[in-house]
Amino acid sequence: MKKISIIVPCYNEEDALLTFYRETSRIIKGMGNEYELIFVNDGSTDNTLDMMKQLAAQDEHVTYFSFSRNFGKEAAMYAGFCNAAGDYIAVMDADMQDPPALLPQMIELLENGEYDSVATRRMNRKGESPVRSWFAHKFYQLINHISDTDIVDGARDFRLMKRDMVDAIIEMSEYNRFSKGIFGWVGFRTYWLSYENVERIAGETKWSFLKLFKYAIDGIINFSQVPLSIASWGGMLMTLAAFVLMLVIVVRRALFGDPVAGWASTICVIIFIGGVQLFCLGIMGQYIAKTYMETKHRPHFIIAETNKDGVKKIC
Ligand code: UDP
Ligand code: MG
Repeated sequence: MKKISIIVPCYNEEDALLTFYRETSRIIKGMGNEYELIFVNDGSTDNTLDMMKQLAAQDEHVTYFSFSRNFGKEAAMYAGFCNAAGDYIAVMDADMQDPPALLPQMIELLENGEYDSVATRRMNRKGESPVRSWFAHKFYQLINHISDTDIVDGARDFRLMKRDMVDAIIEMSEYNRFSKGIFGWVGFRTYWLSYENVERIAGETKWSFLKLFKYAIDGIINFSQVPLSIASWGGMLMTLAAFVLMLVIVVRRALFGDPVAGWASTICVIIFIGGVQLFCLGIMGQYIAKTYMETKHRPHFIIAETNKDGVKKIC
C-alpha cells in the first residue's frame, strides 16, 4: 500500500481548517492507505497555528510547519514537497475548493500505473467575477502562445503526483516559482480530471486582482522570453522606419526645399519613441530583477516551528 502525503498551504484559514481536516481525514481513512496531512502555516495572523497544534496533538497523521512570516503559497507548497515522505503526494487548498471526494479516484488512477500525476481543472469559473474570468482566460491564451510549456486554462494546483515527479519539482529550485508552469515543464504523464467549480466554504480569497496580475506577469517572465524578443525586434523595426523616414526627408528637402513645418508631429514622434524605449527597458528590467533575485540564492522559506523531527527548516 502506498503512503500518501497531502500538503495544505494555509494562510488565515481558521474558519475552514477544521472542516477540511474532518472531511479529508474521513475520505482518506476510508481508502486504507497510510497517510500524512502536512499543514503549512504561511504566517497566519489568526488562530490557524493553534488549530494545527491541537489537531497534531490528537492525530498522529497531522504534521505542521509554521513559517517565520508569510512567504506565499508557492513557498508553502515547496516546503511541503521538500519534506513529504509519501509515495504519492498531493497539494490541496484548505478552503474546500479542492474537493477531497476526488482523492479516491485520483489514487486509483495513479495505482493503475499508466499515469504519473492526476491534475484537476475547473470546467467553469462559476461564482467568479466576469472581469476576473476574462482576464484569466486571456492570460492562459497569451502564455500558451508565447511559452513552450503547456499551461492549462482552469488548472488548479490540486494534483496527486508520484514521488519521481515531486523529486523533479524539488530539483527546480528557482526562487521565483510559478507552479502551474513548473508542473508542465517537468513533463510526465498527466491525467486531467475536470470538475465543477466549488466556492470556498469560509473566509475569503487571498488573491486580490493586483496580486493575481503580478502572478500572471511572473508566469510570463518565468516561462517565456518572447517579451524580450518583441522588445528587440520592435527596436529594429523602428530603426529601419527611422532610416526610411530620414531618406524621405533628405530627398524632399533636396528636391523641393521644404520650409520648416510639423513641429507638433515631431514632438509626437519623439514622445512615442521615448515611450517605446522606456517600455522595452521596463521589460528588460523585469528579467534583470528576476535574475538578481535568483543570484542571491535566498531560501524559499524558513520554518520557525514544527512537530516533526528531521525537517528541512530552511531551504
Ligand atoms: N495561501 C497561502 N499563502 C498565501 C495565500 C494563500 O498559503 O499567501 C493558501 C490559502 O490558505 C489557501 C490556498 O493557498 O489554502 C489558496 O488560496 P486562496 O483560496 O485564497 O486562492 P484561490 O482559491 O482564491 O485562488
Ligand atoms: Mg481557494
